[in-house]
Amino acid sequence: MKKSLCSLVALAVSMSIAVAQQNGKPEDTEFYTPVPPKVTPGPVTSTKPPSDAIILFDGKNLDNWVTTDDTTKPATWNVSGGIMTVNKSGGNIQTKQSFQDYQLHVEWRVPKNITGSGQARGNSGLFLASIGKGDEGYELQILDNYENKTYVNGQAGSIYKQFAPLVNPNLPAGEWQNYDVAWKAPRFNEDGSLLSPARVTVYFNGVLVQNNTELKGPTQYIGQPAYRKKHGPAPIKLQAHGDKSEPISFRNIWIRPA
Ligand code: MG
Repeated sequence: MKKSLCSLVALAVSMSIAVAQQNGKPEDTEFYTPVPPKVTPGPVTSTKPPSDAIILFDGKNLDNWVTTDDTTKPATWNVSGGIMTVNKSGGNIQTKQSFQDYQLHVEWRVPKNITGSGQARGNSGLFLASIGKGDEGYELQILDNYENKTYVNGQAGSIYKQFAPLVNPNLPAGEWQNYDVAWKAPRFNEDGSLLSPARVTVYFNGVLVQNNTELKGPTQYIGQPAYRKKHGPAPIKLQAHGDKSEPISFRNIWIRPA
């Protein structure tokens, strides 16, 4: 009896901490300066996978993917003409397989007829480790930032709400763009405390935008990020963002565990 009361108190305390972490407004962690300088990338081409890569999407089907909110359900995004397009009502999708440290290549395209502004213009996201339903995980932001103003730690190439990209090498909507990522997953002690934070290096259209960046924790929309949840290897997740702009597409996704 005493023990259950104790755990009830512990639960109440941890819930109030969780609520406290959500205090404040989304804008509290959105920054507008310094603005990453524009860089025109060299020719951006589709990078064929090396011989030891695991192919996550080759243009044919979504056999390696499931729906995040119910991982027993197949992914419902649209596959046609060698590309997959976000199905916003179908929710986020993630790989069946889990990964720890890796090299990842992803190609994405904002449609030429994109509308909207700020975060409501071609928003998607590449979650480098999916550690729960919805948007839980570590998001490398995908957005049309060719000529679209938003907070700098929310633009394409940012570690969302943590680190702005070093520069802005966005191509205009309608063009295919590449992310090449080196991910070092966080490690945790037995008791759940952090042993070493996640680190990420990102090339966006062949241009360095994150250089061995040390993440503060999983992505948090409101409040300060921190490592609050011990986890091991995790799936890669793609975001079906709820804004009204036209859905973006992906192709040629491969990974090399490292
Ligand atoms: Mg996003």
